[in-house]
Amino acid sequence: MDKKFAILGDIHANLPALRAVLDDARSQSATDFICVGDVVGYNASPCECVDIIRDLGCLTIQGNHDHYCASDEPLTDFHPLAASVVDWTRRQLSADQAAWLRRLEYQKTIPGAMFSIVHGTFDMPEQWGYVFDALDAESHFVYQKTPLCFHGHTHVPVVFEKRGMSPAVRMEPMGFQLSFGRKYFINVGSVGQPRDGNPKASYCLYDTSTRSVEFRRLDYDIAEAQALIRAAHLPERLALRLEVGR
Ligand code: ZN
Repeated sequence: MDKKFAILGDIHANLPALRAVLDDARSQSATDFICVGDVVGYNASPCECVDIIRDLGCLTIQGNHDHYCASDEPLTDFHPLAASVVDWTRRQLSADQAAWLRRLEYQKTIPGAMFSIVHGTFDMPEQWGYVFDALDAESHFVYQKTPLCFHGHTHVPVVFEKRGMSPAVRMEPMGFQLSFGRKYFINVGSVGQPRDGNPKASYCLYDTSTRSVEFRRLDYDIAEAQALIRAAHLPERLALRLEVGR
């Protein structure tokens, strides 16, 4: 049966952005929802976002922020700005919400749909390495068994393509149809904290009937997300970066 998947990631507790994306996906007749990780961290609505994603029956994997916000492991590898929010988020999540985040797997193949998901890269998924360029993608492709794989983590939407033995290439995030015999590693961008200089919320649609991928960018109520950050007394820089997409 043909499906239209809405694939979202790096929601990062941004409730107004998540609502806008889900409304748009429904208006585009999405049949299934998938999340490539980092439901929480950075923004001020972690509990609401976890509940929405859970209630949606959205298949989700574990990002680095999900992992650390749901544990008491030391935050030595975190930027101080991110660490302060992880600390705050730990105090917001219920035991039940934290347990749900901790149970999430690090990677997943979607049954019957010929695609897989991972937060950062298949090259040691539980270490959350970053794929910024074609060279990083090359080491990921060694482990990608499906023709298509979606990921997040850098908050920058992009397409990496691998044809046979040729080196992986980096392509702009534009809609396209999959070609047989090639592999694609697609970053869906970030719902809750885009970092490509475009403040609009980002996600992807994948239509199995046409084998086509579409990148969607959406306006949402940034002022509301900022007001929530300020009301929670989270660092001001987190509010300001939302309007510039950095
Ligand atoms: Zn993230």
